[in-house]
Amino acid sequence: MTAKRLLLLGAPGSGKGTQAATLVKNLGIDHISTGDMLRSAVAEGTELGKQAKSLMDQGQLVPDDLVIGVASDRLARNGIDRGFVLDGFPRTVAQAEALDGILKDLGTSLDLCITLSVDEEAVVERLLKRANIEGRLDDNETTIRERLRVHHESTEPLVQFYRDRGMLKTVDGMGTEEKVTLRVAEALES
Ligand code: AMP
Repeated sequence: MTAKRLLLLGAPGSGKGTQAATLVKNLGIDHISTGDMLRSAVAEGTELGKQAKSLMDQGQLVPDDLVIGVASDRLARNGIDRGFVLDGFPRTVAQAEALDGILKDLGTSLDLCITLSVDEEAVVERLLKRANIEGRLDDNETTIRERLRVHHESTEPLVQFYRDRGMLKTVDGMGTEEKVTLRVAEALES
């Protein structure tokens, strides 16, 4: 059976957002991206958006309690029946532990965590290209380097966290989008 409660991990620019969108389309599951939710909050000028904006602009993480609240509301509100792919949450061990609790309260758990492994310089190039195309203010080179540093420091420990739970599969994230999509599909089936 295809796993349907998924977590995608990977450095900023690893292609995890793209792969999440493909999984959503192919599996008919929900895309849960705390980055998207926070950007909406910023655009709407909500209290959460005001608290998050400058941190996001600097490539820093938004505090755990705020993000856990956002993710928890989203999981509880829209249900989890169709399955989901988490993209950009959790990003710290504290968030991963909170996620365990949230899912447990909802009577479910993750099926699988996939981590996309990529070459770091390729990641920086990919991010700079995306920033140029989309005109994203939070994506200049300094911010990108900072986002990578934060990723190493706070998010990479999650690879071991999920490996320890026997839930991790590593997928090579280099090469064309189509190739990576095939590798992800294989990881889901095996
Ligand atoms: P993303 O689109 O996932 O790269 O998220 C964009 C920005 O939103 C990040 O650089 C963080 O500032 C913030 N953010 C998104 N998700 C989280 C999270 N799980 N924990 C902390 N900050 C987050």
